[in-house]
Amino acid sequence: MKLSDLKQGEKARITEVGGEGALRQHFLDMGLIPGADVELVKFAPMGDPVEFRVYGYELTLRLADAERIAVEAFPDKKEGSSDGEALKQRKAETDSRAHRSRSEAEHPGLGEEGRYHEKETENPLPDGTQLTFALVGNQNSGKTTLFNQLTGSNQHVGNFPGVTVDRKDGEIRGQKGTLITDLPGIYSMSPYTSEEIVSRDFVLKEKPKAIINIVDVTSIGRNLYLTMQLLEMGLPMVVALNMMDEMIGNGGYVDINAMEEMLGVPVVPISAAKNAGVDELVHHAMHVAKYQETPTVQDFCDSTDHGGAVHRCIHAVMHLIEDHAVNAGIPVRFAAAKLIEGDRLLLEQLALEQNEKEMLEHIVLQMEKERGMDHSAAMAEMRYAYINKVCDRCVEKPTESKEHIRSRQLDRVLTGKYTAIPVFVLVMAAVFFLTFGLIGPFLQDLLAAGIEKLGSVVDGMMDAGQVNYAVRSLVMDGIFEGVGSVVSFLPIIVTMFFFLSILEDSGYIARVAFVMDKLLRKIGLSGRSIVPMLIGFGCTVPAVMSTRTLPSARDRKMTILLTPFMSCTAKLPIYGFFVSAFFPEYSWQIITGLYLLGIVTGILVSLLFKKTLFKGEAVPFVMELPNYRMPGAKNVLQLLWEKAKDFLQRAFSVILIATIAVWFLKSFDLRFELVEDAHSSILAMIAGWFVPLMQPVGMGDWRIITALVSGFMAKESMVSTMEVLFAPEGVAGVIPTAAAAAMLVFSLLYTPCVAAVASIRRELGNKWAVCVVLWQCGIAWVAALLVNLLCSVL
Ligand code: GDP
Ligand code: MG
Repeated sequence: MKLSDLKQGEKARITEVGGEGALRQHFLDMGLIPGADVELVKFAPMGDPVEFRVYGYELTLRLADAERIAVEAFPDKKEGSSDGEALKQRKAETDSRAHRSRSEAEHPGLGEEGRYHEKETENPLPDGTQLTFALVGNQNSGKTTLFNQLTGSNQHVGNFPGVTVDRKDGEIRGQKGTLITDLPGIYSMSPYTSEEIVSRDFVLKEKPKAIINIVDVTSIGRNLYLTMQLLEMGLPMVVALNMMDEMIGNGGYVDINAMEEMLGVPVVPISAAKNAGVDELVHHAMHVAKYQETPTVQDFCDSTDHGGAVHRCIHAVMHLIEDHAVNAGIPVRFAAAKLIEGDRLLLEQLALEQNEKEMLEHIVLQMEKERGMDHSAAMAEMRYAYINKVCDRCVEKPTESKEHIRSRQLDRVLTGKYTAIPVFVLVMAAVFFLTFGLIGPFLQDLLAAGIEKLGSVVDGMMDAGQVNYAVRSLVMDGIFEGVGSVVSFLPIIVTMFFFLSILEDSGYIARVAFVMDKLLRKIGLSGRSIVPMLIGFGCTVPAVMSTRTLPSARDRKMTILLTPFMSCTAKLPIYGFFVSAFFPEYSWQIITGLYLLGIVTGILVSLLFKKTLFKGEAVPFVMELPNYRMPGAKNVLQLLWEKAKDFLQRAFSVILIATIAVWFLKSFDLRFELVEDAHSSILAMIAGWFVPLMQPVGMGDWRIITALVSGFMAKESMVSTMEVLFAPEGVAGVIPTAAAAAMLVFSLLYTPCVAAVASIRRELGNKWAVCVVLWQCGIAWVAALLVNLLCSVL
């Protein structure tokens, strides 16, 4: 029987995992190994992908991928006496053990000063050495939350795989000379996604003084899989058991001492969100780093397990490659394990001789024969076997956590067959209505009124002080009109980010990816691409960065090329400007229409790509569905503050400079004399060269062209430029309505701003960045032409 044959609610045991290469490795890493129990939770509303429960957490798979996994039905569900008995007995054992250890609660602490290492042989790093730490863990394990607690810095926290896409550094609060790096979330040290490569390279090449491995205790089984691989690297390490608040709250219990003994590194229970245990964690981390205490346990392969085939294989390979690994500076045990798993990257790095390669092959073949399983499955199984031992001995899981029950109930509606898509549409509509229709404009009016007040006060003061005309014009027309009009959009932008971050933090966006996967596949993408696209409504720069979570280069490229079509918040001021000048009675309809137009254009473009540049299938969709969590107020506020700061910084740097430059160019002529009429200014002359190009689309006005160029610097500055150039009569009387409509469409679609282009360049290289600029200008031109023609006809 295949995994895809299960019905909703059915359970089975995996017998064999098919597929090949990276995909198969990923299956195994995520806990889909022979012998694991799986339950089919539900089908996505469109019938594909499917949600499974394995190792105590939920993950998604497409039907086509589920077909590659063979399962056998459970012996008998109702009777199951032998299983039931065994379970009962195990429960009784854990209970008695728990009582025992709960009473003797002394925490000895591997690595607590002087207790673990011997004083005589201790060999601390010299004083003044910078202690560097890598923060490594699964996605959604709370890395960013912990990082924020440790450094007091404002990092973006999200409940979706891939919010942390780049490394971020910070100093641990109160510990001078430390540096902690927040790495992207990974599930394994196999190079499956580009994030995994980032994290793996960081640990291997930059050699932090210690690793802080953060483990989500509510799905400890899968989280420890990464821990096993980190331990193999032999670096000093501390395990931070996060989410202990949820564990304890549900009546669960962890025997920390026993776990330390089995893992051979200090284990510290913490709750990053509640800032509990973090000080102790720092204490331990500092200690293991300072004294370079490496894990005492690395040999997880049991010589009695299934005849010890895997055990003997690993040790044989370790001996075989020891010199090469040492030369290459790669931990021996880690190298051996990865070689057995067939890691090509590592094979190259080690530069084995032909003989050795052959021997390696023989050793692995022999193991596969004895173990009756291929090499990757055998290794994953070995690790999970040890994890099971650790969990059996040390962890008393709550039967069903409150958070999980709540998540299931919410999912009944939010990913329900008939409700999922209507809810998604409603949620997005509500977000847009609240942002652009209700909260945003209200706050915006308040702020605009404030700025105007300030403006008139300053004007009055300059008047009284008899300030020079040019300076006065610069301050009033340039700064107050220009920058002020942009700043008044701050409330809308912050409101938008507020809703986006709530959706992200709560775990809803992961569900959206699950629900929308089938639809996105039609345009050649996977459900995961929905995240960059949604973030794109906020800002293209983080959206482009967040594509790093996508496992295939093809998907990443396509998604990156698509995100600029999602109308970002910086374009809002432009819409607001034109709509209030030309179509005040249809404001929110037109703005919504523009958003839809962006989406439709994006879809058409990706269909085109799918047929031409990027033929082939989207990558598999193996993704964790985390429990819903209440977004932390502190995290959300931090994010908003950061966005507001970012926006204001831009307003007072790029936009201010652009505004001043525009004001200068339009106020002087070639002889640097103040002009009466802007038409004879330098600006009119330069921009005039481009008039013929824009004439056909109805935008052949030098002021509009200037605005478009300044919009390339930062979209919002288009508004300030137009305020300055069209002063004092305003834009409404000067350009025809059809041109305004064309302008709206043009500014929606034409080249992304410099910052976005720079981030595209970082991901895809120069060639693509230039292509994006030209290509989008072309599309915008054609679309604007159509709109202009249409409006002229009507
Ligand atoms: P990352 O993906 O590993 O960076 O994880 P995040 O730091 O973004 O956290 C994922 C989610 O878990 C967020 O919604 C956090 O609010 C939540 N979270 C983090 N730490 C804790 C904790 O100790 N207890 C609880 N209950 N939730 C937490
Ligand atoms: Mg994070």
